[in-house]
Amino acid sequence: MTDTVAGLLDEIADIGRDPARGGYSRPVHSDAEHTLREWFRGHAARRGLDVRTDHNGTIWAWHAPSGSRDGAAVTGSHLDSVPGGGAYDGPLGIASALVAFDQLAARGVGGTRAIAVFGEEEGSRFGVACLGSRLATGAITPERALALKDTDGLTYAEVAARSGLDPERMGPDPDAIARMKAFVELHVEQGRGLVDLGRPVGVATSILGHGRWRISIQGEGNHAGTTLMADRRDPMVAAGRLIAAVRDLARAEPGARATVGRLQPVPGGTNVIASTVDVWLDVRHPDDTVTASLVARIGEEAAELATDEGCTATLTEESLSGTVDFDAALRDRLSAHLGDAPQLPTGAGHDAGVLAGRVPTAMLFTRNPTGVSHAPEELCEDADAEAGAAALADGLELLAADPPTVPTAPDTDTTGGCPLV
Ligand SMILES: [Zn+2]
Repeated sequence: MTDTVAGLLDEIADIGRDPARGGYSRPVHSDAEHTLREWFRGHAARRGLDVRTDHNGTIWAWHAPSGSRDGAAVTGSHLDSVPGGGAYDGPLGIASALVAFDQLAARGVGGTRAIAVFGEEEGSRFGVACLGSRLATGAITPERALALKDTDGLTYAEVAARSGLDPERMGPDPDAIARMKAFVELHVEQGRGLVDLGRPVGVATSILGHGRWRISIQGEGNHAGTTLMADRRDPMVAAGRLIAAVRDLARAEPGARATVGRLQPVPGGTNVIASTVDVWLDVRHPDDTVTASLVARIGEEAAELATDEGCTATLTEESLSGTVDFDAALRDRLSAHLGDAPQLPTGAGHDAGVLAGRVPTAMLFTRNPTGVSHAPEELCEDADAEAGAAALADGLELLAADPPTVPTAPDTDTTGGCPLV
Protein backbone atom coordinates (compact mmCIF):
# COMPACT_ATOMS: atom_id res chain seq x y z
CA MET A 1 0.00 0.00 0.00
CA THR A 2 1.19 3.48 -0.78
CA ASP A 3 -1.49 5.41 1.05
CA THR A 4 -0.60 8.59 2.84
CA VAL A 5 -2.41 9.94 5.87
CA ALA A 6 -3.44 13.04 3.93
CA GLY A 7 -4.65 10.91 1.03
CA LEU A 8 -6.77 8.76 3.33
CA LEU A 9 -8.29 11.79 5.01
CA ASP A 10 -9.04 13.28 1.58
CA GLU A 11 -11.18 10.24 0.84
CA ILE A 12 -13.52 11.10 3.71
CA ALA A 13 -13.37 14.86 3.37
CA ASP A 14 -16.99 15.09 2.17
CA ILE A 15 -18.52 12.73 4.73
CA GLY A 16 -20.55 14.30 7.50
CA ARG A 17 -19.91 17.91 6.63
CA ASP A 18 -22.04 20.24 8.73
CA PRO A 19 -23.42 23.00 6.51
CA ALA A 20 -24.79 24.96 9.45
CA ARG A 21 -21.82 24.93 11.80
CA GLY A 22 -19.00 24.25 9.34
CA GLY A 23 -16.60 21.37 9.86
CA TYR A 24 -18.00 17.92 10.55
CA SER A 25 -20.87 16.47 12.55
CA ARG A 26 -20.43 12.73 12.74
CA PRO A 27 -22.29 11.48 15.81
CA VAL A 28 -21.97 7.83 16.73
CA HIS A 29 -24.24 5.55 14.68
CA SER A 30 -25.25 8.36 12.34
CA ASP A 31 -25.18 7.74 8.59
CA ALA A 32 -21.91 9.68 8.44
CA GLU A 33 -20.22 7.63 11.14
CA HIS A 34 -21.45 4.40 9.58
CA THR A 35 -20.01 5.50 6.24
CA LEU A 36 -16.68 6.15 7.96
CA ARG A 37 -16.81 2.72 9.60
CA GLU A 38 -17.36 1.13 6.18
CA TRP A 39 -14.47 3.18 4.78
CA PHE A 40 -12.22 1.87 7.55
CA ARG A 41 -13.39 -1.72 7.16
CA GLY A 42 -12.63 -1.55 3.43
CA HIS A 43 -9.10 -0.25 3.99
CA ALA A 44 -8.43 -2.79 6.71
CA ALA A 45 -9.71 -5.67 4.57
CA ARG A 46 -7.60 -4.54 1.62
CA ARG A 47 -4.58 -4.83 3.89
CA GLY A 48 -5.46 -8.40 4.75
CA LEU A 49 -6.46 -7.51 8.30
CA ASP A 50 -9.16 -9.59 9.93
CA VAL A 51 -11.95 -7.14 10.71
CA ARG A 52 -14.50 -7.80 13.47
CA THR A 53 -17.00 -5.62 15.28
CA ASP A 54 -17.35 -6.68 18.89
CA HIS A 55 -20.44 -6.70 21.11
CA ASN A 56 -19.79 -3.11 22.22
CA GLY A 57 -19.57 -1.83 18.65
CA THR A 58 -15.79 -1.44 18.69
CA ILE A 59 -14.19 -2.40 15.37
CA TRP A 60 -11.00 -4.45 15.61
CA ALA A 61 -8.73 -4.98 12.60
CA TRP A 62 -6.24 -7.74 13.34
CA HIS A 63 -2.84 -8.64 12.02
CA ALA A 64 -2.30 -11.98 13.75
CA PRO A 65 0.12 -14.09 11.70
CA SER A 66 0.42 -16.76 14.40
CA GLY A 67 -3.35 -17.11 14.65
CA SER A 68 -3.29 -15.92 18.26
CA ARG A 69 -4.61 -12.52 19.29
CA ASP A 70 -2.86 -12.57 22.65
CA GLY A 71 -0.07 -10.13 23.35
CA ALA A 72 -1.27 -7.61 20.79
CA ALA A 73 0.20 -4.16 20.30
CA VAL A 74 -2.92 -2.10 19.67
CA THR A 75 -3.43 1.37 18.30
CA GLY A 76 -6.66 3.16 17.54
CA SER A 77 -8.89 6.13 18.00
CA HIS A 78 -12.43 7.10 16.97
CA LEU A 79 -14.45 8.24 13.96
CA ASP A 80 -17.29 10.11 15.69
CA SER A 81 -17.03 13.88 16.14
CA VAL A 82 -18.39 16.71 18.22
CA PRO A 83 -21.00 18.88 16.47
CA GLY A 84 -19.15 21.03 13.95
CA GLY A 85 -15.79 19.45 14.77
CA GLY A 86 -12.55 19.43 12.84
CA ALA A 87 -11.28 16.92 10.31
CA TYR A 88 -8.54 15.41 12.45
CA ASP A 89 -9.89 14.68 15.94
CA GLY A 90 -10.26 10.90 15.73
CA PRO A 91 -9.84 10.16 12.00
CA LEU A 92 -6.19 11.28 12.10
CA GLY A 93 -5.45 8.46 14.56
CA ILE A 94 -7.28 5.92 12.39
CA ALA A 95 -5.67 7.00 9.11
CA SER A 96 -2.25 7.12 10.81
CA ALA A 97 -2.79 3.61 12.14
CA LEU A 98 -3.46 2.28 8.62
CA VAL A 99 -0.32 3.95 7.28
CA ALA A 100 1.73 2.79 10.29
CA PHE A 101 0.57 -0.80 9.67
CA ASP A 102 1.69 -0.46 6.03
CA GLN A 103 5.12 0.63 7.25
CA LEU A 104 5.35 -2.22 9.75
CA ALA A 105 4.43 -4.70 7.00
CA ALA A 106 7.06 -3.17 4.70
CA ARG A 107 9.66 -3.49 7.46
CA GLY A 108 8.71 -7.11 8.01
CA VAL A 109 7.78 -6.50 11.64
CA GLY A 110 6.03 -9.56 13.00
CA GLY A 111 3.83 -10.14 15.99
CA THR A 112 0.18 -9.59 16.69
CA ARG A 113 -1.20 -6.11 16.33
CA ALA A 114 -4.59 -4.49 15.87
CA ILE A 115 -6.34 -1.22 15.10
CA ALA A 116 -9.32 -0.43 17.31
CA VAL A 117 -12.09 2.02 16.41
CA PHE A 118 -14.01 2.99 19.53
CA GLY A 119 -17.55 4.40 19.40
CA GLU A 120 -19.02 7.54 21.02
CA GLU A 121 -15.61 8.81 22.11
CA GLU A 122 -16.87 12.38 22.14
CA GLY A 123 -20.07 11.65 23.99
CA SER A 124 -21.71 14.16 21.69
CA ARG A 125 -24.81 12.05 21.08
CA PHE A 126 -25.42 10.26 24.40
CA GLY A 127 -23.61 12.56 26.84
CA VAL A 128 -20.97 10.16 28.19
CA ALA A 129 -17.57 10.36 26.51
CA CYS A 130 -15.46 7.29 25.70
CA LEU A 131 -18.54 5.07 25.90
CA GLY A 132 -16.95 2.20 23.92
CA SER A 133 -13.83 1.96 26.05
CA ARG A 134 -15.81 2.53 29.27
CA LEU A 135 -18.07 -0.39 28.39
CA ALA A 136 -15.08 -2.62 27.60
CA THR A 137 -13.28 -1.80 30.86
CA GLY A 138 -16.40 -1.85 33.02
CA ALA A 139 -16.12 1.86 33.81
CA ILE A 140 -19.81 2.12 32.97
CA THR A 141 -22.39 -0.59 33.42
CA PRO A 142 -24.26 -1.74 30.33
CA GLU A 143 -27.55 -0.96 32.09
CA ARG A 144 -26.64 2.69 32.49
CA ALA A 145 -25.10 2.97 29.01
CA LEU A 146 -28.10 1.41 27.29
CA ALA A 147 -30.51 3.79 29.05
CA LEU A 148 -28.66 6.94 27.89
CA LYS A 149 -30.77 9.04 25.53
CA ASP A 150 -29.92 11.29 22.60
CA THR A 151 -31.68 14.59 21.94
CA ASP A 152 -34.38 12.78 19.94
CA GLY A 153 -35.21 10.67 22.98
CA LEU A 154 -33.75 7.51 21.48
CA THR A 155 -31.93 5.28 23.93
CA TYR A 156 -28.47 3.94 23.24
CA ALA A 157 -30.05 0.47 23.28
CA GLU A 158 -32.45 1.44 20.48
CA VAL A 159 -29.79 3.12 18.37
CA ALA A 160 -27.31 0.27 18.86
CA ALA A 161 -29.95 -2.31 17.91
CA ARG A 162 -30.80 -0.38 14.74
CA SER A 163 -27.10 -0.49 13.91
CA GLY A 164 -27.07 -4.28 14.11
CA LEU A 165 -25.65 -4.63 17.63
CA ASP A 166 -27.25 -6.76 20.31
CA PRO A 167 -27.81 -4.59 23.41
CA GLU A 168 -28.16 -7.71 25.54
CA ARG A 169 -24.53 -8.61 24.88
CA MET A 170 -22.99 -5.22 25.69
CA GLY A 171 -20.71 -4.91 28.69
CA PRO A 172 -17.23 -5.55 30.07
CA ASP A 173 -14.80 -7.32 27.77
CA PRO A 174 -11.95 -8.58 29.97
CA ASP A 175 -10.64 -10.79 27.16
CA ALA A 176 -10.17 -7.80 24.85
CA ILE A 177 -8.35 -5.93 27.62
CA ALA A 178 -6.18 -8.93 28.50
CA ARG A 179 -5.16 -9.43 24.87
CA MET A 180 -3.53 -6.00 24.72
CA LYS A 181 0.12 -5.85 25.74
CA ALA A 182 0.16 -2.14 24.89
CA PHE A 183 -2.15 0.54 23.55
CA VAL A 184 -0.91 3.64 21.74
CA GLU A 185 -3.33 6.31 20.52
CA LEU A 186 -2.19 8.95 18.06
CA HIS A 187 -4.19 12.18 18.14
CA VAL A 188 -3.99 15.69 16.77
CA GLU A 189 -2.82 17.97 19.56
CA GLN A 190 -5.67 20.07 20.91
CA GLY A 191 -3.49 22.99 21.89
CA ARG A 192 -0.32 24.79 20.85
CA GLY A 193 2.28 22.90 22.86
CA LEU A 194 4.09 21.41 19.86
CA VAL A 195 3.79 24.63 17.87
CA ASP A 196 5.55 26.50 20.64
CA LEU A 197 8.25 23.81 20.81
CA GLY A 198 8.67 23.71 17.02
CA ARG A 199 8.25 19.92 16.95
CA PRO A 200 5.92 17.81 14.78
CA VAL A 201 5.30 14.93 17.22
CA GLY A 202 5.11 14.64 21.00
CA VAL A 203 4.34 12.09 23.71
CA ALA A 204 1.55 12.64 26.25
CA THR A 205 2.38 12.90 29.93
CA SER A 206 -1.12 13.18 31.38
CA ILE A 207 -4.78 13.83 30.76
CA LEU A 208 -6.45 16.46 32.87
CA GLY A 209 -9.22 15.11 35.09
CA HIS A 210 -12.60 15.97 33.67
CA GLY A 211 -16.27 15.33 34.07
CA ARG A 212 -19.73 16.22 32.83
CA TRP A 213 -22.70 17.21 34.86
CA ARG A 214 -26.29 18.00 33.91
CA ILE A 215 -27.99 20.73 35.86
CA SER A 216 -31.70 20.45 35.26
CA ILE A 217 -33.62 23.61 36.15
CA GLN A 218 -37.36 23.14 36.51
CA GLY A 219 -39.77 26.06 36.18
CA GLU A 220 -43.20 26.47 34.72
CA GLY A 221 -43.93 26.34 31.01
CA ASN A 222 -46.33 29.07 29.91
CA HIS A 223 -47.35 31.54 27.23
CA ALA A 224 -44.84 34.23 26.28
CA GLY A 225 -47.57 36.79 25.66
CA THR A 226 -50.11 36.22 28.39
CA THR A 227 -47.84 35.50 31.36
CA LEU A 228 -46.96 38.70 33.21
CA MET A 229 -43.29 39.12 34.06
CA ALA A 230 -44.09 39.02 37.78
CA ASP A 231 -45.87 35.69 37.41
CA ARG A 232 -43.10 33.78 35.68
CA ARG A 233 -41.01 30.86 36.83
CA ASP A 234 -38.63 30.92 33.89
CA PRO A 235 -35.75 28.41 34.04
CA MET A 236 -34.00 30.07 31.08
CA VAL A 237 -33.36 33.16 33.19
CA ALA A 238 -31.81 31.05 35.95
CA ALA A 239 -29.78 29.17 33.32
CA GLY A 240 -28.45 32.41 31.86
CA ARG A 241 -27.35 33.67 35.25
CA LEU A 242 -25.85 30.28 36.06
CA ILE A 243 -23.65 30.28 32.94
CA ALA A 244 -22.04 33.55 33.99
CA ALA A 245 -21.64 32.23 37.56
CA VAL A 246 -19.88 29.09 36.26
CA ARG A 247 -17.39 31.28 34.42
CA ASP A 248 -16.78 33.44 37.51
CA LEU A 249 -16.38 30.50 39.90
CA ALA A 250 -13.91 28.77 37.55
CA ARG A 251 -11.89 31.97 37.09
CA ALA A 252 -11.45 32.15 40.84
CA GLU A 253 -9.93 28.63 40.92
CA PRO A 254 -6.38 28.54 39.46
CA GLY A 255 -6.00 25.85 36.82
CA ALA A 256 -9.73 25.16 36.54
CA ARG A 257 -11.69 25.08 33.30
CA ALA A 258 -15.47 25.10 33.37
CA THR A 259 -17.72 25.32 30.35
CA VAL A 260 -21.40 25.33 29.54
CA GLY A 261 -21.43 24.34 25.90
CA ARG A 262 -24.91 22.98 25.64
CA LEU A 263 -28.36 24.11 26.75
CA GLN A 264 -31.52 22.13 26.19
CA PRO A 265 -34.71 24.10 26.87
CA VAL A 266 -37.93 22.10 26.88
CA PRO A 267 -39.97 22.55 24.79
CA GLY A 268 -37.74 25.15 23.09
CA GLY A 269 -40.22 27.50 21.38
CA THR A 270 -39.70 31.22 20.73
CA ASN A 271 -43.11 32.14 22.14
CA VAL A 272 -42.99 29.62 24.99
CA ILE A 273 -41.56 30.07 28.47
CA ALA A 274 -39.56 26.87 28.94
CA SER A 275 -40.71 24.38 31.55
CA THR A 276 -37.22 22.97 32.09
CA VAL A 277 -33.71 23.69 30.90
CA ASP A 278 -30.84 21.22 31.00
CA VAL A 279 -27.51 23.01 31.45
CA TRP A 280 -24.63 20.71 30.49
CA LEU A 281 -21.48 21.47 32.44
CA ASP A 282 -17.89 20.38 31.70
CA VAL A 283 -15.32 20.91 34.50
CA ARG A 284 -11.61 20.07 34.43
CA HIS A 285 -8.74 20.45 36.91
CA PRO A 286 -5.51 18.51 37.60
CA ASP A 287 -6.55 17.94 41.22
CA ASP A 288 -9.68 15.79 41.39
CA THR A 289 -10.61 17.15 44.82
CA VAL A 290 -10.63 20.68 43.41
CA THR A 291 -12.92 19.52 40.60
CA ALA A 292 -15.29 18.04 43.18
CA SER A 293 -15.36 21.17 45.34
CA LEU A 294 -15.82 23.46 42.32
CA VAL A 295 -18.73 21.38 41.07
CA ALA A 296 -20.25 21.44 44.56
CA ARG A 297 -20.04 25.25 44.61
CA ILE A 298 -21.61 25.43 41.15
CA GLY A 299 -24.40 23.17 42.39
CA GLU A 300 -25.07 25.47 45.37
CA GLU A 301 -25.08 28.49 43.07
CA ALA A 302 -27.50 26.75 40.71
CA ALA A 303 -29.86 26.03 43.59
CA GLU A 304 -29.79 29.67 44.76
CA LEU A 305 -30.27 31.13 41.29
CA ALA A 306 -33.10 28.72 40.58
CA THR A 307 -34.82 29.68 43.84
CA ASP A 308 -34.50 33.37 42.91
CA GLU A 309 -36.55 32.63 39.79
CA GLY A 310 -39.11 30.41 41.50
CA CYS A 311 -37.52 27.31 40.04
CA THR A 312 -35.69 24.27 41.36
CA ALA A 313 -32.38 22.77 40.22
CA THR A 314 -30.96 19.26 40.37
CA LEU A 315 -27.37 18.36 39.54
CA THR A 316 -26.55 14.95 38.08
CA GLU A 317 -23.10 13.61 37.41
CA GLU A 318 -23.05 12.11 33.92
CA SER A 319 -19.42 11.03 33.79
CA LEU A 320 -16.18 11.57 35.67
CA SER A 321 -12.60 10.70 34.79
CA GLY A 322 -9.78 11.39 37.21
CA THR A 323 -6.49 12.87 36.09
CA VAL A 324 -4.48 10.20 34.24
CA ASP A 325 -0.69 10.14 34.39
CA PHE A 326 0.61 7.92 31.63
CA ASP A 327 3.25 5.36 32.62
CA ALA A 328 6.46 7.37 33.02
CA ALA A 329 8.82 4.59 31.98
CA LEU A 330 6.84 3.86 28.84
CA ARG A 331 6.61 7.48 27.77
CA ASP A 332 10.32 8.02 28.44
CA ARG A 333 11.15 5.01 26.26
CA LEU A 334 8.88 6.22 23.49
CA SER A 335 10.23 9.75 23.69
CA ALA A 336 13.83 8.55 23.48
CA HIS A 337 12.98 6.17 20.63
CA LEU A 338 11.30 9.00 18.71
CA GLY A 339 14.32 11.29 18.70
CA ASP A 340 13.78 12.81 22.10
CA ALA A 341 10.19 13.76 21.30
CA PRO A 342 8.85 16.34 23.73
CA GLN A 343 6.48 15.24 26.47
CA LEU A 344 3.45 17.34 27.18
CA PRO A 345 0.11 17.16 29.02
CA THR A 346 -3.35 17.57 27.54
CA GLY A 347 -6.62 18.94 28.81
CA ALA A 348 -8.63 16.68 26.48
CA GLY A 349 -10.03 13.24 27.31
CA HIS A 350 -9.35 10.13 25.22
CA ASP A 351 -10.03 6.39 25.15
CA ALA A 352 -6.33 6.00 26.01
CA GLY A 353 -7.10 7.60 29.38
CA VAL A 354 -9.81 5.04 30.10
CA LEU A 355 -7.53 2.15 29.14
CA ALA A 356 -4.46 3.46 30.99
CA GLY A 357 -5.16 1.72 34.30
CA ARG A 358 -5.64 -1.68 32.67
CA VAL A 359 -3.14 -1.73 29.81
CA PRO A 360 0.32 -0.15 29.32
CA THR A 361 -0.85 2.92 27.44
CA ALA A 362 0.71 5.87 25.68
CA MET A 363 -0.37 8.70 23.42
CA LEU A 364 1.34 10.50 20.58
CA PHE A 365 0.33 13.99 19.48
CA THR A 366 0.88 15.66 16.14
CA ARG A 367 1.33 19.40 15.80
CA ASN A 368 -1.78 21.54 15.31
CA PRO A 369 -0.74 24.92 13.86
CA THR A 370 -3.94 26.68 14.94
CA GLY A 371 -4.09 25.04 18.37
CA VAL A 372 -7.86 24.89 17.81
CA SER A 373 -9.86 21.69 18.24
CA HIS A 374 -13.54 20.75 18.40
CA ALA A 375 -13.98 23.38 15.70
CA PRO A 376 -13.43 23.53 11.91
CA GLU A 377 -10.12 25.40 12.29
CA GLU A 378 -8.42 22.31 13.74
CA LEU A 379 -5.40 21.51 11.55
CA CYS A 380 -2.57 19.08 10.90
CA GLU A 381 -0.17 19.80 8.05
CA ASP A 382 0.40 16.91 5.65
CA ALA A 383 4.09 16.56 6.52
CA ASP A 384 3.32 16.43 10.24
CA ALA A 385 0.63 13.80 9.64
CA GLU A 386 3.17 11.60 7.84
CA ALA A 387 5.70 12.21 10.63
CA GLY A 388 3.05 11.15 13.13
CA ALA A 389 2.28 7.92 11.28
CA ALA A 390 6.00 7.11 11.06
CA ALA A 391 6.37 7.77 14.79
CA LEU A 392 3.39 5.51 15.47
CA ALA A 393 5.00 2.74 13.40
CA ASP A 394 8.27 3.23 15.29
CA GLY A 395 6.48 3.14 18.62
CA LEU A 396 4.51 -0.01 17.78
CA GLU A 397 7.69 -1.70 16.53
CA LEU A 398 9.44 -0.83 19.79
CA LEU A 399 6.58 -2.20 21.88
CA ALA A 400 6.31 -5.35 19.76
CA ALA A 401 9.99 -6.08 20.36
CA ASP A 402 10.07 -5.17 24.03
CA PRO A 403 6.62 -4.96 25.59
CA PRO A 404 6.07 -2.92 28.73
CA THR A 405 4.91 -4.52 31.92
CA VAL A 406 1.22 -4.67 32.58
CA PRO A 407 0.12 -2.08 35.15
CA THR A 408 -1.62 -3.10 38.30
CA ALA A 409 -5.14 -1.79 38.44
CA PRO A 410 -5.27 1.05 40.97
CA ASP A 411 -7.10 0.53 44.25
CA THR A 412 -9.46 3.29 43.35
CA ASP A 413 -10.40 3.73 39.75
CA THR A 414 -9.03 7.08 38.59
CA THR A 415 -8.95 6.22 34.93
CA GLY A 416 -12.42 6.73 33.67
CA GLY A 417 -14.31 5.56 36.70
CA CYS A 418 -17.93 6.62 36.96
CA PRO A 419 -18.89 6.89 40.63
CA LEU A 420 -22.52 6.70 39.60
CA VAL A 421 -22.16 3.19 38.25
ZN1 LIG B 1 -10.49 12.61 19.85
